[in-house]
Amino acid sequence: MSAPSSKPNRAFPHLTTSEKPTLEDVAKLIKDGKAKRIMLMVGAGVSTGAGIPDFRSPGTGLYDNLAKAIFDVDYLEERPEAFYTLAQELYPGNFRPTLSHYFFRLLQEKGVLRGCWTQNIDTLEHLAGLKDELLVEAHGSFATATCLNCRTKFDKDDIKPRVLRGEVVRHDEGKCKGNKRALIKPDIVFFGEGLPDKFFERLSDFSSCDLLIVIGTSLQVGPFNSLMHRVPATCPRLLINMESVGEVESPRGLGFDFTGFTGKPGGIRDVRRLGDADEGIMELARLIGWDEDLRELKEKEWKRLDEQEGKAAPAPAKADKEKAKEKAEEKRSEVIEQVEETVEANEGKKEDEAGVDELTKAVAGVALDGDTADTRKDEEKKPAL
Ligand SMILES: [Zn+2]
Repeated sequence: MSAPSSKPNRAFPHLTTSEKPTLEDVAKLIKDGKAKRIMLMVGAGVSTGAGIPDFRSPGTGLYDNLAKAIFDVDYLEERPEAFYTLAQELYPGNFRPTLSHYFFRLLQEKGVLRGCWTQNIDTLEHLAGLKDELLVEAHGSFATATCLNCRTKFDKDDIKPRVLRGEVVRHDEGKCKGNKRALIKPDIVFFGEGLPDKFFERLSDFSSCDLLIVIGTSLQVGPFNSLMHRVPATCPRLLINMESVGEVESPRGLGFDFTGFTGKPGGIRDVRRLGDADEGIMELARLIGWDEDLRELKEKEWKRLDEQEGKAAPAPAKADKEKAKEKAEEKRSEVIEQVEETVEANEGKKEDEAGVDELTKAVAGVALDGDTADTRKDEEKKPAL
């Protein structure tokens, strides 16, 4: 009478425990109003479609290490040119939100968004119209900046003209004027810095979530990657990503279980849709019946941004997805070259002082022991040649 297969799946009540949920089943939860408190975990994969190069995801070899050197406070104070060259390229205003970002907005409009937690610093969630109270920028953002000397706060627009000219932005008032430490640093979280207070204040939101969507992230950066474990044990979870990540490794371990490997009596609750973020989101929207709404919202919003800027959109059209990604890749190489050139030019000026390529040292240091700052400090203790 009550064979195991006839029990309802605890995450997908319209399925039995012997059935494997799919993207269609996730869509059904949203369509039927069963998912009303949806939580999003967002990574670089949703912004590469906007042409934004991914500098901060681990596992990208030298780029990874270079990024670690650039996003390091000690290095910033020593060689600020590298970071400000990068900031000039990545500063908000150069990029447009993607279809994925507007899907987040659509969830907000439909009243079913519990929160959007992003690792991205590009402010595209904000630009897409997500409300502050639903948005946690876990690694900070370019939206505001702080003087490292006197802690005065600035809006991104206050320093924008100087950033876009490629300047090293320093605070030129009062006690900060002429102070080498008075760099105005955008409030993005550098390696080794603490996360924003909001991250910790809002952690409990996950316990009332009834659908988690993880999108465009390799889940390699902590503590962000641990957020997925904070949802209730019966909460369905969807991964939309180029490759499968965050999978459970032992029967009693934590992580996604897409196959039933852990044999949980409540059935499988995790679904993955491998591939491009925007494509996955569009498929999900179509299955819910929101594809028209989503297209319209994006068109309307891009038009509004066009009018605001008084010019044509610099971001790619939806048909140019692959091109945008290639562009993002090219851009990344380009920016890295520029950063390296800036550092080299700067080194040239200071050759008498040091005569060594600090960046190369920092990069080599990271590659060896993963700790830029300490390595560099050790190097500094050695007598100059
Ligand atoms: Zn200051």
